[in-house]
Amino acid sequence: MADASLRITEIFYSLQGEAKTVGLPTVFVRLTGCPLRCQYCDSEYAFFGGERKTLGEILAEVAAFSPRYVCVTGGEPLAQPASLPLLTALCDAGYEVSLETSGALPISAVDPRVSRVVDLKTPDSGEVSRNLYDNVALLTERDQVKFVLCSRADYDWARLKVDELSLSERAGEVLFSPSFGQLAGKNLADWIVADNLPVRFQLQLHKILWDDAPGY
Ligand code: SF4
Repeated sequence: MADASLRITEIFYSLQGEAKTVGLPTVFVRLTGCPLRCQYCDSEYAFFGGERKTLGEILAEVAAFSPRYVCVTGGEPLAQPASLPLLTALCDAGYEVSLETSGALPISAVDPRVSRVVDLKTPDSGEVSRNLYDNVALLTERDQVKFVLCSRADYDWARLKVDELSLSERAGEVLFSPSFGQLAGKNLADWIVADNLPVRFQLQLHKILWDDAPGY
């Protein structure tokens, strides 16, 4: 598999902006392409283009940063089948590896050492019909489920899903994040506390620090 290749938008070193390793220096490998079109998407520049790189080239670029944490993101990484051997190779190299996925594609073949950050798309994302609920039964303590919330209606929907699918028991973390510029973080924080929800509130650190510029 050493010569398998993937289409890559960018590889860069920054701080993890969200999820349970938030704030930790992390190399991001952003794969090109996504079959979804969430209305709030912040990585549309990764839908097309990119550069084809072999596993060996990707591993060498990652190693040059000497990271502890590596996050494979997109786009939708799982839309490229070679994302699976890439994830395994990164684990074999000794990194703490996470995968950010839309939740629309099967996570079953992902290396079990990877922490999978699986979105559940809300009604106001515009892509709720793409949620692959078969993934829920596969979640483990290593994994995280993420909701990006655009409105109070989204919050109410997500709250019901957390309960109905027992998400806080199945996954290590359930993350509620306000859609940047669409839902006030303070409102979401107040609702979570008022409802005593078993979820972690998060703000997207990279957007606050770097105003959502590519490469951070
Ligand atoms: S799944 Fe992620 S990359 Fe794809 S459209 Fe939605 S937010 Fe953008």
